[in-house]
Amino acid sequence: MAEKTHEFQAEVAKLLHIVAHSLYSETEIFLRELVSNASDACDRLRYAALTQPELTEGDSDYKVVLTVDNGAKTLTISDNGIGMSEQDMVDNLGTIARSGTSNFVDQLTGDAAKDVSVIGQFGVGFYSSFMVADKVEVISRKAGENAAYKWQSDGMGAYTISDADRDQRGTTIILHMKKDAEEYLDPVRIRHVVRTYADHIALPVVLKATEEDKEDEVLNTASALWTRPKSEITEDQYKEFYHHTGQAYDSPWMTLHSKVEGTLEYTMLVFIPESQPFDLFSPERKSQLKLYVKRVFITDECDELVPPYLRFLKGVVDSEDLPLNVSREMLQNNPVLRKIRSGLVKKVIGELEKRAKKDSEGFHKFWDAFGAVLKEGIYEDAENGDRLLKLSVFKSTHGENYSTLEDYMGRMKEGQDTIYYITGDDMDALRKSPQLEGFKAKGVEVLLLADPVDSFWLSRISEFEGKALKSVTRGTAELDKLDGDEGDGKKDDKDDAEGNLDLLVAAFKQALEGRVKDVRISKRLTESPVCLVADDGDMDIHLERVLKAHKQLGGMESQRILEVNPGHPLMQKLQAKAELGGASDTLSEAALLLLDQAFIVEGEAINDPVEFSRRMANFMAQGLG
Ligand code: ADP
Ligand code: MG
Repeated sequence: MAEKTHEFQAEVAKLLHIVAHSLYSETEIFLRELVSNASDACDRLRYAALTQPELTEGDSDYKVVLTVDNGAKTLTISDNGIGMSEQDMVDNLGTIARSGTSNFVDQLTGDAAKDVSVIGQFGVGFYSSFMVADKVEVISRKAGENAAYKWQSDGMGAYTISDADRDQRGTTIILHMKKDAEEYLDPVRIRHVVRTYADHIALPVVLKATEEDKEDEVLNTASALWTRPKSEITEDQYKEFYHHTGQAYDSPWMTLHSKVEGTLEYTMLVFIPESQPFDLFSPERKSQLKLYVKRVFITDECDELVPPYLRFLKGVVDSEDLPLNVSREMLQNNPVLRKIRSGLVKKVIGELEKRAKKDSEGFHKFWDAFGAVLKEGIYEDAENGDRLLKLSVFKSTHGENYSTLEDYMGRMKEGQDTIYYITGDDMDALRKSPQLEGFKAKGVEVLLLADPVDSFWLSRISEFEGKALKSVTRGTAELDKLDGDEGDGKKDDKDDAEGNLDLLVAAFKQALEGRVKDVRISKRLTESPVCLVADDGDMDIHLERVLKAHKQLGGMESQRILEVNPGHPLMQKLQAKAELGGASDTLSEAALLLLDQAFIVEGEAINDPVEFSRRMANFMAQGLG
């Protein structure tokens, strides 16, 4: 056949002009594109050979071979994939056939800066060869056919096709490198680019030895682990892959490998680490999941792939639906990615639910490491928040173990319609909170929530399965409604005492005017003399402190209510003093002192430590007579 000259399709000519002349900085991606095409060609033959085994001509040892010729300044990329016929060459290497790409070409303006960003979004595939080469030859023989052809072009408007010789089916692409792209003739550079972008291409990418006595080198791992059936992968192989891909040194606590097929097709191989990474709570921490498209690495900085509350996941998601050349801009608000993300989230939550049921002890280890992060999802994920809350486990006044909200509900007292909790910074301090005393005495369980995130989700969520969630540091304690273990239907001592403290309460109110919202008799104290609570409509004490620390309170601080324990001997004595008259100074000093004590117990700073200390010393002196 004589050489035939073909004009490039107008769009391609335009595209090639931009590719060859723009200052596209990431020239190295040409190798990713060509290796990926070679791999695709092998995949296609592999698939075709399922029904036509004769197509392989006895060779199903698929590979991509890179050969450098330093004399000729060529880099050759050769594969034994499906190959191209003459017509295939015309259709594939001179036109833009992919759907959606004519839109893309329409967006090209001739303004290099703008065009590069457009190209970045769509990718130029095979045409990226012309970023690094001023002449490209493609020699190919289609599997099952005898004739081979050579396609050749300098990328300047036309290409030629002529007869060629090729022993075997497959495609060879010869790049005559531009002067400023000779770096790609260097094995070190080639090795690096292949490892960066194509390590997990499922077939070997071989660099041909340049000297007779040297061995050919396989540049990649040549195994996309996630594409293999689960049954063929050992735990050790998973672990190795986890180490490699997650740059982790522990073992995965959970390995989740699944292939999703349907309207979307993707495979996920994700891991939950065993231990908490040091930067889990650092705001700079990015998602650690790698996005692949058809086995080709795209990015490991795809925040769209997982919500922040799953930022501890490591591993790979490999999509069959995204275009290979997705740019970061394109990943934002990408509908395919959004669906993958939603599927991934559901899968992970589902697995966690299973694990929690099957092995609660193991689950609690996970919870120790990542529970505080997962709980962010309770308020951030509108779709799955309920499930996450149900999955969550908490410490409580019922022993030392974790409980779910359902466990808690199973232990609720008769007549109890509220889930009680207390929030704070420190579990040990929480266990000793005075506000818990009455609940403990009545045998009413209270959840102890010591993660900063607890205050946030609790500020959004006020009930669980029809039961209100209520802080024991807020509002009046409705303890008398509940029949506790000790409750015998009789009136409490406290109720008897209540009437007796009227003078004390009045004196305290006067002394603390402007410092507290109210002073009242407590139903929640059994041992401590006083405690602070928030009024029903006000913000929880601890939440307010958290917001204040984050400078998000905006001057909305509310005053607290001081509750006094009517059963405490000190209150009885102060009341007796009040009844005798002439003790207003003592009462107001006592009020101020007790208020400071209540602040200290809350872990808050007191107004005037010097005054506090003076009052304390005075009272001690009086006490010693
Ligand atoms: P894409 O890979 O997205 O289809 P490319 O521009 O990278 O776009 O490649 C265009 C087409 O050229 C491919 O779809 C394929 O049909 C053909 N092609 C490219 N390289 C090869 C190859 N090594 N073997 C067989 N066909 C190839
Ligand atoms: Mg391609």
